[in-house]
Amino acid sequence: MRRVLITGGGSGIGADLARGFAEAGAEVVIAGRRAGALDAVAGGLIRAIPADVSDEASVAELFRQAGPCDVVIANAGIADSAPLGRVTLAQWNAIMAVNLTGTFLTLREGLRQMGAGPGRLIAIASVAGLRGVAYAAPYAASKHAVVGLVRSLALELGGTQITANAICPGYTDTDMTTRTLDNIMARTGRDRQAALQALTDTTPQNRLIAPSEITAAALFLSSDQARGINGQAITISGGDA
Ligand code: NAP
Repeated sequence: MRRVLITGGGSGIGADLARGFAEAGAEVVIAGRRAGALDAVAGGLIRAIPADVSDEASVAELFRQAGPCDVVIANAGIADSAPLGRVTLAQWNAIMAVNLTGTFLTLREGLRQMGAGPGRLIAIASVAGLRGVAYAAPYAASKHAVVGLVRSLALELGGTQITANAICPGYTDTDMTTRTLDNIMARTGRDRQAALQALTDTTPQNRLIAPSEITAAALFLSSDQARGINGQAITISGGDA
């Protein structure tokens, strides 16, 4: 792989993906809305281009500036927590715009640039793309849709050297999970340690996933040996979704 584009590369899983692919020798382009966060990760083989994945023109301009990419990872995402009865249309639309439309626009643009490949299209979905999550229905719905998008796209790629797969992490040690812990603390009055314990108690291995575990899977999916893996939703959660 020569060039890899990663959305949401300024933090968390995306930043770890960027460093992992750069260490593997790839030229990496990271995108996100906050230039400052991107610049903190950029350097060496990692180039930052500010972009909003929910905006069609912004995504087109991102790919124009990046140049042809061999691996495209739609990682940008947002989460929110509320019982469905209290979810506003604005909250619903905001989640769908980034998680679903952003993934569509990113993978579509990547696909257009790849021609017949070889290439790799990867979406960072979630275990919430494979099962329900109480108080996170819009997020779970958006991630289920991402898995459906990837599975359908994979069926269209049979005659090419491109594959499309989803990686479905469980709770991962990033800012997104820090915000989840903040919510638990605010709702329950628990301290951070007790909130973390309550969260990890719901996971099969009683721990958070490390971003590096997701990077390792993405690196493998991007290798030539993984050319037969297509249309899969690969769970990295310590157990069943
Ligand atoms: P994070 O640190 O909050 O990263 C999310 C990234 O997405 C940020 O860098 C953010 O950058 C970017 N982003 C958000 N909206 C964007 C937009 N409109 N355009 C471009 N970039 C945008 O959280 P993370 O855990 O690394 O999340 C990465 C992915 O993993 C997400 O898709 C998330 O749903 C998924 N995931 C996370 C977990 C978990 O437990 N953490 C579990 C399963 C799946 P800007 O704000 O600068 O735009």
